[in-house]
Amino acid sequence: MPSPQPSTPNDRPAGPAANAMRVRILGGGVAGLTCAHAFARRGARVTLIERRSATGQGCSWYAGGMLAPWCERESAEPIIAELGFESLDYWRHAVPDVPNEGSLVLAPPRDLPDLRRFARRTEGFEWVDGARIAALEPDLGGRFDQGLFFSTEAHLEPRKALAALTRTLVDEYQVTIRYEADGLEADGLDEGDAPADVVVDCRGLAARDVLADLRGVKGEMLVLYSREMSLKRPVRMLHPRIPVYIVPRGDGHFMIGATSIENDERGRVTGRSMLELLGAAYALHPAFGEAEIVEIGADVRPAFPDNIPRLRRRGNTIYVNGLYRHGFLAAPALARRAAALAFDGTPCPEVMDEDRREW
Ligand SMILES: Cc1cc2nc3c(=O)[nH]c(=O)nc-3n(C[C@H](O)[C@H](O)[C@H](O)COP(=O)(O)OP(=O)(O)OC[C@H]3O[C@@H](n4cnc5c(N)ncnc54)[C@H](O)[C@@H]3O)c2cc1C
Repeated sequence: MPSPQPSTPNDRPAGPAANAMRVRILGGGVAGLTCAHAFARRGARVTLIERRSATGQGCSWYAGGMLAPWCERESAEPIIAELGFESLDYWRHAVPDVPNEGSLVLAPPRDLPDLRRFARRTEGFEWVDGARIAALEPDLGGRFDQGLFFSTEAHLEPRKALAALTRTLVDEYQVTIRYEADGLEADGLDEGDAPADVVVDCRGLAARDVLADLRGVKGEMLVLYSREMSLKRPVRMLHPRIPVYIVPRGDGHFMIGATSIENDERGRVTGRSMLELLGAAYALHPAFGEAEIVEIGADVRPAFPDNIPRLRRRGNTIYVNGLYRHGFLAAPALARRAAALAFDGTPCPEVMDEDRREW
């Protein structure tokens, strides 16, 4: 039996009841942590098992953290924007420091047709001229004549956000986290040693052992440090071959991302990718040419063939996977659906394909 919970202040959850649903989450990336939150908020007794020594250090470690459902609408299916708006609202309440500064989409003069094409494929923006761009981002003043401003979007620092969410889970919801343990060998790992009622598999690409159609899409990124540059919001630079984005991380740090390469191997950042990412940053502002390279990173995004994330259910296991480029944008909304499925049996056909035969 679990030990009795200490009394908690009125504004904090009281902790799970003794007869609460027992849930085991495999994996402590953005999918696993948001699922732990969604189940714990519904009163479940949650144990999360992470094979590394900390949460958030898989693919989620390398994310840019753009919460940009309108911008993603340009290239993603409508369901991504739908999940994205819900998740945007979640992050604003779940973690501190979510700057609501919107996002800016720019293109060099020769690529203005790309800007017009981008505008045609999405909504939620206003056209901005050079003066307005300079007012929004003074350091970009005089460099661009036209852009798109998505004022209702936001961004976060993924590493800080997942660390904050982990603290919330442990301190406020009494979620047990077991580190350096393999969730597939979970006997005795659940709270109180009783077997879990529900297992939520959020192992990212490692779940390829059971999700046969999961593939890897390599993404590469850099973190630069510049004393000269200042940006308030993510800036996307359109380019026919290598669209990139720059996300301000505070204290002169900028995340530059991200390549998207059909490749299951994590490997290292290639010279070509480095050239392209740095070239785009330099095109945004030459001050990035003088910036220090603080970090070079690569990981492999888990994706299904149509790049749409899925919930799948087999027996008492729910798989939450295929987050592709939309881990932070989609995970909270998927997690809420996973909890609704387990607690209420609520189907969510928009992200489930239970009639599949091959799995
Ligand atoms: C360069 C780059 C930039 C990106 N930018 C963005 C962005 O701006 N916005 C956005 O929304 N998304 C972005 N993404 C995508 C996002 O990072 C992924 O969609 C997301 O991280 C996937 O989360 P996950 O929890 O499924 O997987 P992961 O983060 O990989 O988490 C899986 C976890 O499971 C653990 N695990 C695996 N096997 C086991 C086991 N047997 N037992 C226990 N634990 C196990 C792993 O250690 C890991 O911690 C980006 C990705 C990359 C690579």
